Amino acid sequence: MDKPGEKAELVHGSCFCGAVRFEFALPTLFCGHCHCSMCRRMHGAGYVTWIGVPTQQLSLTAGQEQLTVFASSEHGKRSFCNTCGSSLFCQSSKHPEIMDIVLANLHETIDREPQAHYYFSDRADWTAIGDVLPRFGGKTGTEPLAAESAGHMTTEKHA
Ligand SMILES: [Zn+2]
Ligand SMILES: [Zn+2]
Repeated sequence: MDKPGEKAELVHGSCFCGAVRFEFALPTLFCGHCHCSMCRRMHGAGYVTWIGVPTQQLSLTAGQEQLTVFASSEHGKRSFCNTCGSSLFCQSSKHPEIMDIVLANLHETIDREPQAHYYFSDRADWTAIGDVLPRFGGKTGTEPLAAESAGHMTTEKHA
């Protein structure tokens, strides 16, 4: 498993039941909170924290047959464990070289902390955010928002 100085940059993760396991090499590309309605409903959560990793750095090490992949939009594919239901990955055909991975499923600490809120205009009314991270929203979910002008609107969704 973890041999100091040899595989120190490998991060492992799994679904809740452990059937689906994966690993990837650092560095990651980003880490952020997504407030889009698709993420919220897929996870039954106020928002979801994702990291991005170059797809070629990710390996499934167990449970490929347990992983259900479905098209959540014209360009998005999300996957989850068909035993426990953990949501694991999201990939867009707009940038297939990047794989979004759910931070909560990782077993080790990664190389960065969450950097921002995305799709903040779409956030749930009952979500109270008290941190000072930058907030992005608007039509694309990634446009900078002024601190207090983050109104709610219907926009294009994550993937
Ligand atoms: Zn599972
Ligand atoms: Zn989202």
